[in-house]
Formats: sequence, C-alpha cells, structure tokens
Amino acid sequence: MDFGFSAEHDRLRRTVREFALNELAPLAQEIDASRQVPPHIVNRLRELGLFGAPFPQEVGGLGTGEIGYCIVMEELAQVCGGTTAMVGAHTGIGAMAVYLDGTEAQKEEYLAGLARGTILSAFALTEPGAGSDAANMKTTALPDGDEFVLNGGKIYITIGDLADIVIVFARTPMDESDGWGLTAFIVRSDNPGFSVVRTEDKLGNLGAHAAELSLDDCRVPRESVLGKYGRGFITAMKTLDVARVSLAACCLGQAEAAFKISVDHAVEHQTSGGPLAHSQSVQWLIADMSTEIEALRSLVYRVAWLVDQGERVTQLASISKLYGSEVATRSVNRAIKVVGTAALEHGSLLERLYRDVRVNEIVEGTSEIQRIVIAGSIFRESGVRISP
Ligand SMILES: Cc1cc2nc3c(=O)[nH]c(=O)nc-3n(C[C@H](O)[C@H](O)[C@H](O)COP(=O)(O)OP(=O)(O)OC[C@H]3O[C@@H](n4cnc5c(N)ncnc54)[C@H](O)[C@@H]3O)c2cc1C
Repeated sequence: MDFGFSAEHDRLRRTVREFALNELAPLAQEIDASRQVPPHIVNRLRELGLFGAPFPQEVGGLGTGEIGYCIVMEELAQVCGGTTAMVGAHTGIGAMAVYLDGTEAQKEEYLAGLARGTILSAFALTEPGAGSDAANMKTTALPDGDEFVLNGGKIYITIGDLADIVIVFARTPMDESDGWGLTAFIVRSDNPGFSVVRTEDKLGNLGAHAAELSLDDCRVPRESVLGKYGRGFITAMKTLDVARVSLAACCLGQAEAAFKISVDHAVEHQTSGGPLAHSQSVQWLIADMSTEIEALRSLVYRVAWLVDQGERVTQLASISKLYGSEVATRSVNRAIKVVGTAALEHGSLLERLYRDVRVNEIVEGTSEIQRIVIAGSIFRESGVRISP
C-alpha cells in the first residue's frame, strides 16, 4: 500500500497551484462578474496542458491519468468555479466520452485537439423532462442514407455555447425490437442544423455558461456515432463514472478553500477573549471540516487510483460524488458560521463558493440518483434488482 503521490503528480500540483494562485485567483471575481473566462486564461490552460491532464501523452495529453486530473480539479476549484466548470465540462465529460468510446478514426480526428484544448467539447444529455430520467428524452436521430438527421433540443449544457464539438445523445430506432435506443453522436457546432438558443442566468460557476441547444434537421454522417449504435446510455454512464470522481475532487478543493478561510479567520480575528480560535464552537466547526475533508481526500484519490488501474468504479464514483458534494456544501456553510457577516460580502471567495457548491448535488446525477446507483450496486450483489 502506498498513500504517497508520485514525483510527477507532486510537480503537477505545484504547477497548477502556482497558476491558480498567481494568475487565476486575482481574476476570479472578474470572471464571475463578467460571466466569462478570458481568452488569455483559456490559452494558459492550453499551454499548461490542463485540458488534457488525464489523456496519454501519445494523443497530446499530459499522461497524468485520473489522479493527475483530480489534482487539476482540486487546485482550480479552490480559486475559480467558472474555470473549474469549464475544464470539467470539456475534459471530464466531453473529451472523456471520445477518449473512452471513440472509434480509432474519431480519436485520430479529435483527440489531440481535445487534449490540447484547441478543440473544445461539451456533453449534451439533459432535456426538459429528461434530466434524471434520460429515457424520457425526446431528441431523435433518424437514419437517412449515409447520414442521421437529429431533431430536438438540450438544456443546461455547460460551455455548449463555446464548444467546437458536442456529444449529443438522441433516441434512435432499433430494428430488432421495433423500439427506440439511445445513441451518442459527435456533432460539430459549425453544423448548420446546430444552434445555441440562449445561455441560462444561473447561480454559480458563472464563468462557464449553461446553454440551451437546438438541433434542427441537423445532418451528421454515420461515422459520427460515438460508441455503439443504440448503446448511448452505456457511453453516458461509462463517462459519468469517471467524471463523478473528478467532480468529487472539485468538491474537495472547494471544501479545502472554505476550511483555509475559516482557520485564517479564527486565528486572525480577535475577540475580547483572544483569537476566535479560543472559542470551542469554532474549534468544533474546524475539527468537523477537517475530519470530512481528510475522509474525502482519501476517498477521491483511492477511486482515482482504481480508475487508473482500469477498474470499473460505478459504485465508488457515486459514493465519492455524493459524499464530496455534501462535504463541500457543509464546509462552506460551516465557514460562513466561522466568518460571520463578512462571508456574504459580494465578491468574496466564500460568497462565490456558497453559490458555486450548490450545483454539485445536481449535475452529473443528483444526490438521489447517486443513492439509487449505490444501493442498486449493493443489492445487485444479493441478486435483487432495483430500478429508479
Ligand atoms: C449549472 C448546470 C450545469 C449542467 N451541465 C450539464 C451538462 O453539461 N450536460 C448535461 O447533459 N446536463 C447538464 N446539467 C443538467 C443536470 O445534469 C440535470 O439538471 C440533472 O441531471 C437533474 O435533472 P433535472 O434538473 O431535470 O431534475 P429532475 O431529474 O427533474 O429531478 C428533480 C428532483 O427529483 C429527484 N428525482 C428525480 N428522479 C428521481 C428518482 N427516480 N428517485 C428519486 N428522486 C428522483 C432529483 O433527485 C431531484 O431532486 C447541468 C445542470 C446545471 C444546473
């Protein structure tokens, strides 16, 4: 058993931390207020290779695996939610789907650009009435000669307005059963049938827009099918299994940021009885945060290590995401108790964290869906099948 990070992972953490603290943190409030990650920051993410951390060097990635990618998410999340969400949407779900399920031709065409961040990607599963219940999806892709014709729409698609390619999930006819299956497609954003309808005015992670997308007689070649025809649900779940681990790493970073703010405040803020740290109620808040953060860190990096060993981690990924999202929320709430009114001052890191953490319990499967996945895995081992 070895609980240490490799020298390469330590180096990566130093690089990302230096970038996050020196270049990103001073701009984080402006990114939030302007609702945009500036192009020079996107270029720095490219230069540092951060869009391609988990992918092998042969395809242009950093080759640091899921552990390296979790380090990137943990460090970025401590300073800027919008930038973290952008990297998460592109690397964690968009590019990851191509890496995990792309054909050799698709990987040849897209993977190097995706890993370098010169091609940005988004992952479009959600529709009105089809968030948790993907089977209720209305978007269709009908075969027409050598093409598929996609019609429908998607909502809340992170960086759907910036992406050069979007992984779109659609219902497709299944010959053998006369029914419908789900299929994933790579859709280029310059396709005349693809358009961005609008971006949502949302609560947090404001630098990364959530876009509504429209597919209107959007014709794509047959070669655009990602993964197996009719098996899009498997492509989605395979991708989300890995993505949920890195989302938990993002939660870890947010919880750590809240913790650091709390400790600094408790040490610096003087009351009539000395520093706030003398107060037992504050000590308990800090101790509870620390306990949960340590548990989350062990969980995240153990599961990331399993991903790098090629293990399927469905249950553990859901456990990480469920626990991580709750720890991030609890840590920020506790930090607000420690800091008091100043915590809610508009423009403070804690105020941004308060808004940014909320969505962790919703995206990539809500907490209720994670509980269903976890319980489903447990009962399946006893021969009992449960369905959502
Ligand atoms: C900021 C943001 C960014 C997003 N980015 C993306 C993206 O990039 N790509 C993408 O495809 N989607 C994205 N989403 C969509 C997100 O994944 C969905 O919002 C999420 O899956 C929940 O779906 P819903 O909002 O339709 O809620 P619903 O599925 O309608 O759920 C409503 C409530 O009912 C509960 N519920 C639903 N079904 C069950 C059940 N069977 N058992 C118990 N409880 C249940 C849920 O847990 C939830 O509490 C994003 C959303 C947000 C807010």
